[in-house]
Amino acid sequence: MANDSVERVHVLIIGSGPAGYTAAIYAARANMKPVLYQGIQPGGQLTITTEVENYPGYPEGIQGPEMMVHFEKQAARMGADIRYGLATKVDFSQQPYKVWIDEEKLIEADSVIISTGASAKWLGLPSEERLNGYGVSACAVCDGFFFKGKEVAIVGAGDTAAEEALYLSKLCTTVHMIVRRDKMRASKVMQDRVTSTPNIKVYWNSETDEILGEKKVEAVRIKNTGTNEKTEIPVSAFFVAIGHQPNSDIFKEYITMDETGYIQTIPGTSKTNVEGVFAAGDVQDKTYRQAVTAAGSGCMAALDAERYLSAKGIA
Ligand code: NDP
Repeated sequence: MANDSVERVHVLIIGSGPAGYTAAIYAARANMKPVLYQGIQPGGQLTITTEVENYPGYPEGIQGPEMMVHFEKQAARMGADIRYGLATKVDFSQQPYKVWIDEEKLIEADSVIISTGASAKWLGLPSEERLNGYGVSACAVCDGFFFKGKEVAIVGAGDTAAEEALYLSKLCTTVHMIVRRDKMRASKVMQDRVTSTPNIKVYWNSETDEILGEKKVEAVRIKNTGTNEKTEIPVSAFFVAIGHQPNSDIFKEYITMDETGYIQTIPGTSKTNVEGVFAAGDVQDKTYRQAVTAAGSGCMAALDAERYLSAKGIA
């Protein structure tokens, strides 16, 4: 591992969703000279969504990617040092904390704010992996356009699946929605919208048996969990919308998490079990997971970091 450049920073922010950028805005305004690494998806999950109607301050709503450009610009204007790069390894065993970027650049940080968010989950079928990018996708908003005028399938029954099925229904002739139980987890209003959309066909008590196609998706085979009856549905795309997992793997040696990998913070704070390491946004929140709550927790993390550094006499 090349280790030619070591840089010392007061506040290192890992991740660039609403939590990371808000932490950067607050830390920069407090003159803590934050450095933020954006990760593999600059702007985070909001860059793969469409209309955001529930973020206060946008009375007409705003497109997710545009909103994240606003966040980034605001953080940059305040003086945050925003960089491309992915944190690939950490050592939180002693101060200063070590974080490696892209496996080579080493940063030594007096405090760290983890805001790495969460990523889409997959079913785990070999055919899903083989056809990923060839009709299999975890983002209807990113890839739905390619299947305009076609029949598609989507698996999942939460708000994300409902939202994406509705989005696809505007582009595609039929949306086949595969739901593993006899009910949906999505909010009532979203369920009502799904079930009253004529070109969304819901298959209850159904699991995905196989995604079929040699070089690209051609059909999906589903199995009714009550009768074991299998049905093949010809489709051009298969969208997976079954939830998310926190991006916390590189921290697990040091940071306390729950059994699904969500970082545990001390209630009412952004503090983790490691002094000077804070967590904000979806990586530590499996309950609310909203842009506005992520932003709020990013603010908390910056304020907690500021207090920590000033108590240590560092900044
Ligand atoms: P959820 O965890 O809420 O839902 C996941 C869905 O996927 C569930 O219906 C689950 O089924 C299903 N599922 C999980 N694993 C499998 C599997 N292996 N095979 C088939 N189905 C599976 O995730 P979401 O991403 O939908 O939502 C996350 C959070 O974000 C929620 O709190 C949601 O309310 C919120 N959200 C809000 C939105 C809004 O307000 N506009 C938009 C999008 C998300 P089962 O129900 O059987 O467990």
